[in-house]
Amino acid sequence: MTNTQKYSYHTHNNSLGIFDGQSSAEEMISKAEDLGFEEIGVSNHLCVHPHIPNRAHKMFLNDPVKALDIYKKMYDELEEVASRHKIKVYKGFEVDFFPSKTWRNWFEKIIKELNYDYLIGASHFIRSPDEKFMCNIYHLKDLPLGTTKEVIDEYLLGYWDSIYQAVASGYFDFMAHIDYCSVSGLCMSPEWDDIKWKLVETISAHKQPFEINTGGLDKIGRPFPEWKICDELIKRNIPVVISCDSHHVSQIGRHFDEVEKYLAEKGCKHRFKISK
Ligand SMILES: [Zn+2]
Ligand SMILES: [Zn+2]
Repeated sequence: MTNTQKYSYHTHNNSLGIFDGQSSAEEMISKAEDLGFEEIGVSNHLCVHPHIPNRAHKMFLNDPVKALDIYKKMYDELEEVASRHKIKVYKGFEVDFFPSKTWRNWFEKIIKELNYDYLIGASHFIRSPDEKFMCNIYHLKDLPLGTTKEVIDEYLLGYWDSIYQAVASGYFDFMAHIDYCSVSGLCMSPEWDDIKWKLVETISAHKQPFEINTGGLDKIGRPFPEWKICDELIKRNIPVVISCDSHHVSQIGRHFDEVEKYLAEKGCKHRFKISK
């Protein structure tokens, strides 16, 4: 397909040996150029919170000063790599949002010091309402033994609350994989439908652009969010961007043709693009 989206703003790399990509910034940018992309956005994770389980991954940080230092070094490296390439490279972040005042203060102080182009809102954590306990959706096996279904359901509500409040915050250019908890089979039963419906309404009310994340097609056979939610948001004229959420060069632009075809069938006219 010739008119397939030729950019992705949701990509990761292994900068500084800290972030969770498998390829380097140089490899990712070169590959995007080889694929004939018009531009590429780099959105390594911004995961900083006083109660983040910081032993679970190097990029989970609970010291805002250390975090800022890491993000500055990552951007320095990125600028250096970008300067050697023709393709337009945007500097972004995929931000793990938390509603508390403490998190907002930390986040606002950090981003004020960074020369970023765009921000993607996300949540990868289930959590208690007070944010004192949180667990990455990929690390659910680390939940304390004997955690009851009631408690897990409360933590899942924390996930959805983070997504709602991220949309309402106005911080973000677009939202990542809004039903990401489905990657682990969570919140798939009909009892969660009301919450998803409310989210569709919240996104619509805020005219918050969202992504169709093609990583889901590889992981669970459908994108994030599920097609039904995509349909509802497209019907409401919410701007959409296709994201590959690449952590490896082989994933850049994955399934874009397939999603482009779907968007054409739905008559989608509202697309998100960074205009600078
Ligand atoms: Zn993500
Ligand atoms: Zn991502």
